[in-house]
Amino acid sequence: MPFNGDIDAQKTSPKELIDQLIAALPDPVLVLDGRANVVTANQPARGLFSGLRDDEALVFAIRVPSILDAVTLVLAGAERQIVEWHERTPVERLFEVFIAPYKINDQRAAVVEFRDITEARRVERMRVNFIANVSHELRTPLTSLLGFVETLQGPARDDIDARRKFLGIMGEQARRMARLVDDLMALSHIELKEHLRPQAPIDLVSIVRHTLDTLEPAAKEAGFSIKIESPAQAFVSGDRDELIRLAENLIKNAIKYGGGNANEPAAILIQIIVLKADVVFMVRDNGLGIAKEHLPRLTERFYRVDTPVSRARGGTGLGLAIVKHIVARHRGKLEIESQMGLGSTFRVIIPSTLETNN
Ligand code: ADP
Repeated sequence: MPFNGDIDAQKTSPKELIDQLIAALPDPVLVLDGRANVVTANQPARGLFSGLRDDEALVFAIRVPSILDAVTLVLAGAERQIVEWHERTPVERLFEVFIAPYKINDQRAAVVEFRDITEARRVERMRVNFIANVSHELRTPLTSLLGFVETLQGPARDDIDARRKFLGIMGEQARRMARLVDDLMALSHIELKEHLRPQAPIDLVSIVRHTLDTLEPAAKEAGFSIKIESPAQAFVSGDRDELIRLAENLIKNAIKYGGGNANEPAAILIQIIVLKADVVFMVRDNGLGIAKEHLPRLTERFYRVDTPVSRARGGTGLGLAIVKHIVARHRGKLEIESQMGLGSTFRVIIPSTLETNN
């Protein structure tokens, strides 16, 4: 049959044809003859295995027993084989390796393709862990709610004091579930829009002051002194609701985990600073601080330094994950500094809308 592409089949040798075909593929591919010698390989394959030489045995370049065994099987007549290969140097990568039979001049031969599934596997694991975490977080309050419902229907049916007490606990458990669902929805909402940078000019100062107005009375009652230092206005390109959530999460955390240390009473400092091209929003508490080893993981979903403490203070474990995504959507940066015994500083740096700040 005539070949209609750029390649003139009459003038092109079979090896050249194979070379051109596999050169067009993005994944590492190599072609073997019936004795497991390398016929040819594309550049990605030569990059992955620097020892690959045409007309030399595959085993000189690839010493992975599972791949070599699968090649032997295919050359001996087996169907296509798929093996997983975990490469550890120079970086950890996971490959799915396809070894498929084909024929050269009536002789059985093999094509080997390497598909990098590192990222796909990581995302899959994250998804599975995430579902397990969400189920666990919901099941605990749900089990407690169901237990109290049964008690109120049964043994405590006519006990007015018990009813009042249990309904209080049930309300708290239901609110905990509601907070979790609310945070989950916020997270997925922000993630969906993460590629779209918000454009509206938003005054961060009014947002932070507004947020503080709602949180300050309870914090003052709990003995906190809160100080805010800011210019009259500080405009960023932003999304109003998301920035309110960001400010709320950081200030609430300072109240939840601040609370003073051995030498000082509870104090929170909030600063907004306008720089040349950015606005900095900082929340500093003088609480117990966070140990260094936790800092890189704090913004992971459901990562908590101390889960019972977080739960007791109404935490869902999602607050900083939400902050991280909001900051990413605003093309900003989040910096966390902390010293055990002295407190923590959360700093958000967001590009400003220059025209409006001058
Ligand atoms: P949570 O709902 O548990 O507060 P976050 O994602 O907001 O979840 O925070 C994750 C964890 O980071 C918290 O459980 C807490 O251990 C720690 N953390 C957050 N903010 C502070 C802070 N200001 N001081 C000390 N620890 C903090």
